[in-house]
Amino acid sequence: MFTSRGCPFQCSFCDRPHLGKNFRARSPENVVAELEACVKLGINNFLFYDDTFTVDKERVIAICREIGRRELKISWDIRTRVDTVNEKIIAALAQAGCRGIHYGVEAGTEKILMVLNKGITFEQIKKAFALTKKYRIPILAYFMIGNPGETREEIRETFRLMKKLKPDYVHLTIFTPFPGTKLYSRGLKEGIIKSNYWQEFAANPKAGFQPPHWPENFTLEELKELLVEGYKNFYFSPENIIKNISKIRTPQELINKARIGLKLFRMK
Ligand code: SF4
Repeated sequence: MFTSRGCPFQCSFCDRPHLGKNFRARSPENVVAELEACVKLGINNFLFYDDTFTVDKERVIAICREIGRRELKISWDIRTRVDTVNEKIIAALAQAGCRGIHYGVEAGTEKILMVLNKGITFEQIKKAFALTKKYRIPILAYFMIGNPGETREEIRETFRLMKKLKPDYVHLTIFTPFPGTKLYSRGLKEGIIKSNYWQEFAANPKAGFQPPHWPENFTLEELKELLVEGYKNFYFSPENIIKNISKIRTPQELINKARIGLKLFRMK
């Protein structure tokens, strides 16, 4: 579900701001009425796919309160930024059935966070993670590798941060310069991106088009290898294996996790 559109932040890699910097949100009553209608249809799990769900804290509190007032027994995930949450928000989310917060952390070094214009600090990341864990809401953390100017050692710093922060899940991607972003324009200007391939694709779309990576320091193959290394490094750490096994409640869960683990193990 979308409960709002737009994001007022200015991350240089993100294709959202040029689609709407102004945050436009549905009212809490309107959002929760839709949730209730879904519950009547037998739907109980939701992902709020808003760019940054907690931009307007009062609205978030009101949504949580309304879910409680209507006594909806639902579970839901949100996506947000570490610098837009506080204890009051996290407590309200937990109370209202929020069972997952997806935080964009992106990189393990200040240099790359600056390049990405992410506007968050490691202190804020640590604080938001600690609060979210305190209220037992599982965390999915987003990271990117192959960012402009990033070196192999800096990518490994990101892997170290992933392990240090201990989210429940990580989502690692290879940085893609999207059209309309500051980094795509920079790449074209500096000659790192050789042609305006997004414009060419728009004018002449061809099947099988692969959005290119940032080719400054790595080939795509090298980044794919690093991506697998990052995933294995995180999910195959003894701590994570024990944590995942301890969460298994049914034989089916065990089978599913074993399948995923095997798939990851075979990835090259
Ligand atoms: S990455 Fe997230 S916080 Fe940054 S501009 Fe995009 S939607 Fe907003």
